[in-house]
Amino acid sequence: MTNTVMKTTSFHDDPLRLADIAVEIAAMNKWYGEFHVLRDIDLTVRRGERIVICGPSGSGKSTMIRCINRLEEHQSGKIVVDGIELSNDLKKIEEVRREVGMVFQHFNLFPHLTILENCTLAPIWVRKVPEREARDLAMHFLEKVRIPDQAHKYPGQLSGGQQQRVAIARALCMKPRVMLFDEPTSALDPEMIKEVLDTMIALADEGMTMLCVTHEMGFAQAVADRVIFMDQGQIVEENEPRTFFGAPQSERTRMFLGQIL
Ligand code: ADP
Ligand code: MG
Repeated sequence: MTNTVMKTTSFHDDPLRLADIAVEIAAMNKWYGEFHVLRDIDLTVRRGERIVICGPSGSGKSTMIRCINRLEEHQSGKIVVDGIELSNDLKKIEEVRREVGMVFQHFNLFPHLTILENCTLAPIWVRKVPEREARDLAMHFLEKVRIPDQAHKYPGQLSGGQQQRVAIARALCMKPRVMLFDEPTSALDPEMIKEVLDTMIALADEGMTMLCVTHEMGFAQAVADRVIFMDQGQIVEENEPRTFFGAPQSERTRMFLGQIL
């Protein structure tokens, strides 16, 4: 009989199986013209993992997550999303974009479409979902973000917090496997921040793979498996929240946390 060694592996030292990886970024660099904006980025995100990315303004946070659905192009290294490596292959870019939902700081809803139409547009035209099914799906997610009663209004008739929840519902209607958030609450009035964070927490609880650029450190402490600190185009430090906040390793992280906490 062979000896079976029972080993408790933590989330991070568990060897990664390829199928368990949602996003892999390896030795990735990006320039804007002469400006080297992302330097040697390595980041592997496992399915179901919740990552919070923070760092000073201009450190490259938006650029990095925009590279994941090819809103920005990287020049070296590799980015693999759900097993698909991003290159100039347009079919692959489309494939990745179908799997990746994105929520921006400024909602980016279509102002001339109703809330319901905002949510059904991409499923109907990109995923080829029949209209009726797309409407049912949209209502399901609008209920989830707790605004089904706003379905027939236009974005301009909603508060910022409501619009951002619509943006989240709209992304979910595409049944993404990964959700990217770029400072989703930083354009909101304080009283609306919580309703959006609560929606994101509910999503995290359901096991969605999430990469969130945010300075909401309460959110990071509540849901993040890992917090990443970026500065000057590099990942300077990453750790699980308790260590990240309790015992930051680098001076730059300490300074940053000192400014925002
Ligand atoms: P963050 O989201 O951390 O604030 P960004 O990723 O938006 O940082 O920007 C990183 C750096 O790249 C900044 O110095 C910014 O001015 C620059 N940058 C962003 N977008 C562009 C662009 N399209 N062209 C040139 N420089 C850019
Ligand atoms: Mg940004």
